[in-house]
Amino acid sequence: MNSIPQSVVALTGAGISAESGISTFRAADGLWENHPVVEVATPEGFDCNPPLVYEFYNQRRRQLLSDEIKPNPAHTALAKFEHEFNGSFLLVTQNVDNLHERAGSQNLLHMHGELLKMRCLNSEMVYDLRQDLNLDSECKCCRSPGNLRPHIVWFGEMPFHMNEINTALEACDIFIAIGTSGNVYPASGFYQKARIRKATTVELNLEATDSSFDEHIYGPASKVVPAYFEQLLRPSS
Ligand code: NAD
Repeated sequence: MNSIPQSVVALTGAGISAESGISTFRAADGLWENHPVVEVATPEGFDCNPPLVYEFYNQRRRQLLSDEIKPNPAHTALAKFEHEFNGSFLLVTQNVDNLHERAGSQNLLHMHGELLKMRCLNSEMVYDLRQDLNLDSECKCCRSPGNLRPHIVWFGEMPFHMNEINTALEACDIFIAIGTSGNVYPASGFYQKARIRKATTVELNLEATDSSFDEHIYGPASKVVPAYFEQLLRPSS
């Protein structure tokens, strides 16, 4: 696109956080941090073995809260774009980490939930969470143990904020998918939805995926994201 767009939607996946030290989900072999996703990222897996699922997300949360994990230049570039762009910008992430908000992004939707939140199975109330969760954790509203789950959208569950996301996709001039394999539905179909109003669709990824965007730019997110969003703000520079 050679002119400055009015409305931009960006979708991020695990690839944007890879250079911050968080492993991606390896769709090819169905493993997430060496666990079959069916065991740790489905409601059935949680029903079958809650301690395993609690511990899986406890480990991810502890890692996220450690000093080693920080936003990288790709997260920072998206926050900078949001602050400098005069049009409308929505950032949708499939990631459950908090690296976008730590980089300064504000108009951000976590469609697959957040590691630093938990939810009551009875009331659906959502609470901040920075410590471990287990079967003995007591819910703040029920005051009883065993009613809390990670606030994560598991396979087979409805992602969050879909109405807001669909409205933005239908109105955008440009849709950019960053560091996502295109294997997880419905995010994998967002570029087709954005095309209905003839948005330009762009993929920024380390390597080619099966999705056919209008433009493909390959390279590590820390390099290609800052360069791409800078030229979107200042097309002639
Ligand atoms: P994915 O793991 O299926 O795919 C990651 C994509 O990122 C791949 O196409 C890969 O080529 C690309 N990639 C890897 N390193 C990159 C880099 N340095 N720069 C640019 N691209 C790079 O990820 P997905 O499509 O987001 O689906 C995974 C699911 O698992 C999501 O639903 C997400 O919620 C969850 N998940 C989240 C995190 C996180 O929060 N950081 C991490 C792992 C998995």
